[in-house]
Amino acid sequence: MTLISRLNREGYVSNDTVVPTNSVSDSVHVIETVTLKELVEKTSTKYSKMNFMCSVKIKKVQTNDTWWYDCCPKCHEELNEFEGMFKCPNCKLTIPVTEKRYRIMIIVEDSTGVANVNFSNCVVKRLVGKSATNMVDELGEGVTKSSIPQLIMDVAEKDVTLNIAIRDDNVLINSTLYNATDAYPSKNPKPSSSESVQKFEDNTLSSCGDNVELAICDKTPGSVKSCNKKIKLVR
Ligand SMILES: [Zn+2]
Repeated sequence: MTLISRLNREGYVSNDTVVPTNSVSDSVHVIETVTLKELVEKTSTKYSKMNFMCSVKIKKVQTNDTWWYDCCPKCHEELNEFEGMFKCPNCKLTIPVTEKRYRIMIIVEDSTGVANVNFSNCVVKRLVGKSATNMVDELGEGVTKSSIPQLIMDVAEKDVTLNIAIRDDNVLINSTLYNATDAYPSKNPKPSSSESVQKFEDNTLSSCGDNVELAICDKTPGSVKSCNKKIKLVR
């Protein structure tokens, strides 16, 4: 499947495409593309929960943290681990088979600056082309939450366009730690990086299907509600 047909299936709308109006809402959510410098300057509370696109290069995967967490297959809440048992704080049940989700801190940069970005499960899944549960299964017995697999380390130097959701902390305490909720191949990669971008496209899953990280956006009308929501990139 070509990139365009895949994007179309996911609801991506390019600047020159007529927007189909068969969705519940006829409006297309226009997400502004900003530089990292402009992103950091969005400290007014009016930007809280808003989404912005940033085209960046992945510089470094932070290795001093865990790369996945266990969550409840039913409510997707992060589970508490005690003596090898997992308990859902929400459902109050012991969970024998957990769902694993990526959560990785990454340093990204563009020509205007550098930022720390928490790559959500959806973003990492797109980049590496498989779910955290599958990754853990494939790595087998010796896998630990602290040893980041090579497939994830290999995302360094990739060009990617991130959907960044402004957190309360970004505007309330001027935190420069951001949350990326989705990722797209960069449209205008530098020639030297075309190979890595191509690889990203090949690895990309057709649809992310997650909505837990994005649930925070649901409180604000006009924000991105899921990975499959119609998005119009503005450049
Ligand atoms: Zn639960």
